[in-house]
Amino acid sequence: MSTHLTTVAGVAVDTRHFIGGERIASTETFTDVSPIDGSVLAEISRGTAMEAAAAVAAAKAAFPAWAATPRAERARLLHAIADGVERRLEELALVETTDNGALLRSHRRGVMPRVAHNFRFFANWLLELDHEDFTTRGHTNHVTWDPAGPCVLITPWNAPLMLATWKVAPALAAGDTVVLKPAEWSPLTASLLADIAAEAGLPAGVLNVVQGYGSEVGDPLTAHPDVRRISFTGSVPTARHIAASAAANLTPLSLELGGKSPLLVFADADLDLAAGLAVEQYDNAGQVCLAATRILVEAPVAEEFTRRFTEKAAALRQGDPREESTDIGPTIHPRQLEKIDGFVRRALEAGARAVIGGHRGEGQYYVPTLLTDVRQDSEIVQEEVFGPVLTLQTFEDEDEAVRLANDTRFGLAATVATGDAERAARVTARLVAGTVWVNCFFVRDLKAPFGGSRHSGVGREGGTWSFDFYCDVKNTVTAPKGFKDHG
Ligand code: NAD
Repeated sequence: MSTHLTTVAGVAVDTRHFIGGERIASTETFTDVSPIDGSVLAEISRGTAMEAAAAVAAAKAAFPAWAATPRAERARLLHAIADGVERRLEELALVETTDNGALLRSHRRGVMPRVAHNFRFFANWLLELDHEDFTTRGHTNHVTWDPAGPCVLITPWNAPLMLATWKVAPALAAGDTVVLKPAEWSPLTASLLADIAAEAGLPAGVLNVVQGYGSEVGDPLTAHPDVRRISFTGSVPTARHIAASAAANLTPLSLELGGKSPLLVFADADLDLAAGLAVEQYDNAGQVCLAATRILVEAPVAEEFTRRFTEKAAALRQGDPREESTDIGPTIHPRQLEKIDGFVRRALEAGARAVIGGHRGEGQYYVPTLLTDVRQDSEIVQEEVFGPVLTLQTFEDEDEAVRLANDTRFGLAATVATGDAERAARVTARLVAGTVWVNCFFVRDLKAPFGGSRHSGVGREGGTWSFDFYCDVKNTVTAPKGFKDHG
């Protein structure tokens, strides 16, 4: 076996970059560790400016032919990649769980099927993508979505392959070529995706994967003048850095960032449903950008809501994410655990009370936590923790609920629990958020716009919005035959 192959959960994973259809090793590596037991999974090729330049050059060289490839053929190849994902679904699920600690059962039943769906959806959407011609004083306006060029796609560790393919699929469908840089804490499934794409017959250079740290390989990618789009999912500080780097070339950006989303529970809500929605926020150990981590409850039902919430939370099982019965796995990394613990300790010192949790568990686990007696302007209410930590505040009326909900620099999502449809309409109209759910959570259709307001992001992706971003949208105006009147 090549020294560049590692076996993770019984699956062979190549630890090298994938550039121009070739596996390329760096001289330096970084260590990839499993959050489940701290075991070393792999020594991964650690990219530098050299690999970044090679990957962009490969994407640039492959672009003209890929852009000229008919839509139907691009769509066929995307379906072939989806077939490969489905064939290797179990392997992808096992590797992802071992690498990032999220639940195996979710990877098997929800996440990896969605990865395949990402490719199928954008392949099908591409074939439907159209704008009706319209006329201006007899002239025909014809709108087209032209491929834009090489794209740099940078993704975080919390849902690695799902978030990567949510970008890769529309970019490839659009006729763009791609350099994907996965997060250094969970790089493995991106490497498997490169294998799957090659097996599916995607031409060399159309999809490239480079691995490494943001400061070493990310910076040269985002600053590269040949890159025509950057799509980034991650934290606000990194987004600021990338935006500054992209500014030199005016590279268009799509930024999907953090959140501090509210769950508003009105007294007229089905409290059992509302408590269930609140407990769902512990999914993936709370390492979910969309998580509604600020629970706002109408005062008269706060006690009853808390009782039901606590009952449901007590039934959650924390443990090995590979076990079918586990509901909450470990945090991704000792640094993330430290960060979560710091937020909670400072909140407790500032006077917060832990209704449940409030401390670490064994090893890399953090115990699901609900904090109350928190001030609206406190760190724990204003900053994204990215762990299984929720806060609970009460409100007296609709105005106060909306004021508290919107009093944040974020605007990714919001969830409203109410039994009154008119109230739902009034409140949702006033909330600042890219996605609002009423009496539900995490229902997502790929044709819906997705993105954040304020510091939660720039731009929207999904359906035609993705093609608007990944393409140069062009309007061609043609004069009618024999038209001579130009004044
Ligand atoms: P992060 O910003 O630390 O890292 C994200 C990616 O950016 C990684 O691949 C990292 O290597 C890379 N990076 C770091 N510095 C870079 C640089 N200078 N240039 C280029 N790339 C660089 O974020 P994270 O900790 O991996 O992820 C957690 C964050 O992601 C949270 O804030 C979460 O809310 C957010 N997130 C948002 C969404 C969304 O859709 N809005 C989804 C998931 C996660």
